[in-house]
Amino acid sequence: MDIEKVLRDSFGLRKFRRGQLEIISSILAGQDTLAVMPTGGGKSLTYQLPSIHLKGITVVVTPLISLMRDQVSALEQIGVPAGCIHSGQTSREKKNTFQAMENSQSFLLYVSPERVQMDGFRSWVEEAPISLFAVDEAHCVSQWGHDFRPEYSQLNLLRKLRPEIPVLALTATATPEVLKDIETQLALKDPKRHVYGFYRPNLFYQVEFCQAEEEKLGYILQAIESNPSGRIIIYAGTRKKCEELGQILGAKDPSVRFYHAGLSNEDREHIQDQYEKGGIRTLIATNAFGMGVDHPDVRLVVHYQIPANIESFYQEAGRAGRDGKHSTCLLLYSKKDKGLQSFFIRESKAPPWIKRNKWNTLDALIHFVEGGECRHGGILTYFKDTERIQRCGHCDVCVPDSPRKISARDVETSRLKAVQRPKKRSRKSKPPKPIVASGPLTLEEKERMRDIRIWRKAYADSKDIPAFLVFSNKTLEDLARKNPSSLEELIQVYGMGPYKVERFGRALLKAL
Ligand code: ADP
Ligand code: MG
Ligand code: ZN
Repeated sequence: MDIEKVLRDSFGLRKFRRGQLEIISSILAGQDTLAVMPTGGGKSLTYQLPSIHLKGITVVVTPLISLMRDQVSALEQIGVPAGCIHSGQTSREKKNTFQAMENSQSFLLYVSPERVQMDGFRSWVEEAPISLFAVDEAHCVSQWGHDFRPEYSQLNLLRKLRPEIPVLALTATATPEVLKDIETQLALKDPKRHVYGFYRPNLFYQVEFCQAEEEKLGYILQAIESNPSGRIIIYAGTRKKCEELGQILGAKDPSVRFYHAGLSNEDREHIQDQYEKGGIRTLIATNAFGMGVDHPDVRLVVHYQIPANIESFYQEAGRAGRDGKHSTCLLLYSKKDKGLQSFFIRESKAPPWIKRNKWNTLDALIHFVEGGECRHGGILTYFKDTERIQRCGHCDVCVPDSPRKISARDVETSRLKAVQRPKKRSRKSKPPKPIVASGPLTLEEKERMRDIRIWRKAYADSKDIPAFLVFSNKTLEDLARKNPSSLEELIQVYGMGPYKVERFGRALLKAL
């Protein structure tokens, strides 16, 4: 059977999206497969299409009854045999589903993870002509994930009952720990990992290191001015900061509001509703805002403070430009921000192993922020996306003079009554950009480069982060050339920010 023909005839779609064909081929080859695509990427098709091709029954485990219903009715509309079994059905409805299954050559059966544990269902699984298990929202197996569901961690039962049937796990979460966890928890055999679609070419990523609060405000005002239409989200790290910004920015603009988990349910619903309808254009929010929020025309997302990790940054900043149009993601960073995130981790009641992981992912974010490499490239590498980019052409690192880049401007103190101690931003606040030498390396420099590379690998392994996040190859080369012997010299090396110097400067100098 021609797969492209099934795509056209059964699903009415013209062509595959990036990654779909690769994932489908892996399943058709009988491989255990881990498919990672962002929300809306088109994961469902990667088990729906094989179900027709493979014949037999494809069992799809999915966490919400509403999701099952939506998918089944969409499939029924296009004439693909499908049904679901869930606790909200009458026994008659369940019977009908099994009847329909027996009368079809191929069938997509949607079930909840709880269902899999039930005795009746287990004995059915042992006998039924099943050709594929698909576990949707598979990150729910992982305690690292944000939606851990205990029933999901029992799903390796499917593997135990029918070890010969391939398993497809699907998720939008691409963090390395979660993916590792999915593979272990579901007992996947030599799984083929497919990570696709994390590149967002319409987004302009910009990271700015700010010495003072006023500088951050300057960026925000400039950013708002550069985006006269569409929605704006400004993420703040604390409720207090969120309210403070709300007051400052709201003083002149009635379409600015703030949102955090400390507001009453009623207030929050009202704000969401107004934001939905367009009465609110600029929303200042903590990370409590965003789950399930999907607006096409968010033109600007600002992080006033750094979030907890790269994953959060990607998710939150990624709310910009869902309509595919140019949008800006501005991340403001000051040394104090790291202190705030460290505080959250220290105060957290999580077990030590989770805390350790949080420290590592915070570390990775700081490295990303301070690193001198293409922002898009950095994110794709972090997520191990199949697509790799050296220079994207739309981030602050690749195009330092982009017209889309937002500059800080002097804050008019009259507009910022709520700010304490208003003072003008010092123009000399930033250290000069280091000069990077080029040309061929000497033998000695080459050897030094090799040694530093070994050191970087060891350091990265000890922190459980990818080596490029410690510092980039460009930094590696600059280190080899400059051979710094003091912290002052070290900070002159390309891509060496104050955090890195503080974190491992001495160790690195010792190694040099
Ligand atoms: P995910 O599960 O990854 O969040 P879905 O499977 O729900 O995403 O798909 C999101 C939308 O994309 C659906 O409306 C689906 O019909 C559409 N879609 C999926 N694959 C294609 C394709 N190859 N061409 C066009 N639209 C597609
Ligand atoms: Mg889905
Ligand atoms: Zn770039």
